[in-house]
Amino acid sequence: MKLHMMTWKEVESYLKHSKGIIIPIGSTEQHGPTGLIGTDCICPTVIAERVGEEDGILVGPTINLGMAQHHLAFPGTVSLRPGTLIALLQDYVNSLRLNGFRRFYFLNGHGGNINTVQAAFAEIYADHSFSSDTESPGIRCKLANWFAMPEVAKLARELYGDKEGHHATPSEIAVTQFAFTDHIKSAVLETLPPYRRFPTDATDFRQCFPDGRIRSDPSLARPEHGARFVDTCTAAVKKDYGDFLDTGL
Ligand SMILES: [Zn+2]
Repeated sequence: MKLHMMTWKEVESYLKHSKGIIIPIGSTEQHGPTGLIGTDCICPTVIAERVGEEDGILVGPTINLGMAQHHLAFPGTVSLRPGTLIALLQDYVNSLRLNGFRRFYFLNGHGGNINTVQAAFAEIYADHSFSSDTESPGIRCKLANWFAMPEVAKLARELYGDKEGHHATPSEIAVTQFAFTDHIKSAVLETLPPYRRFPTDATDFRQCFPDGRIRSDPSLARPEHGARFVDTCTAAVKKDYGDFLDTGL
């Protein structure tokens, strides 16, 4: 159930039986020589839409831009500043809060978003605390990182071991291969210099990681692996979202 494919009347009737929504969030950034620029958006969107279809849960428009400043030295990367993403998240959540939504489950595809999204949640809760509205119930937001869910991380370890790495990972690229079989890319992977430090900015990042990968071997990715990641993560998100609605955690 995609919000942008529904009418306002359909959303109104959804709100009669649920106050929850899943919102995919990603980033538009380089993903090594074989990864699609939209990898971090595609993965959570595919999983969220599967959950939405199977369990009748509303899925909001994907936030396609995130914290990608480290990747700006690679063509095609588009980044927000932290303050911009925080403002965007405040407006997104507060709009839906006015409509009656109360539980916001963000399914995230990009590790670099985590700190900023948590800061946005703090701003959103402060919006309510500082308002004169003491009558209406508060809202709750949750951040779930699809790639870090225990079942997903276990499958990545089984399939790739330490070749999973930290950026342009075979697991995320496998999900995009499964979702878009006509966009599978190949390239000869260079031998990378040894890992010395995590870079501070875009220039430093490209010097440390010349082809954009961080200790990963994306040539191991297969579309059939992607199907397994999507199945595994769909089950995990269904449970996690159910717990969130029940307990707020
Ligand atoms: Zn990624």
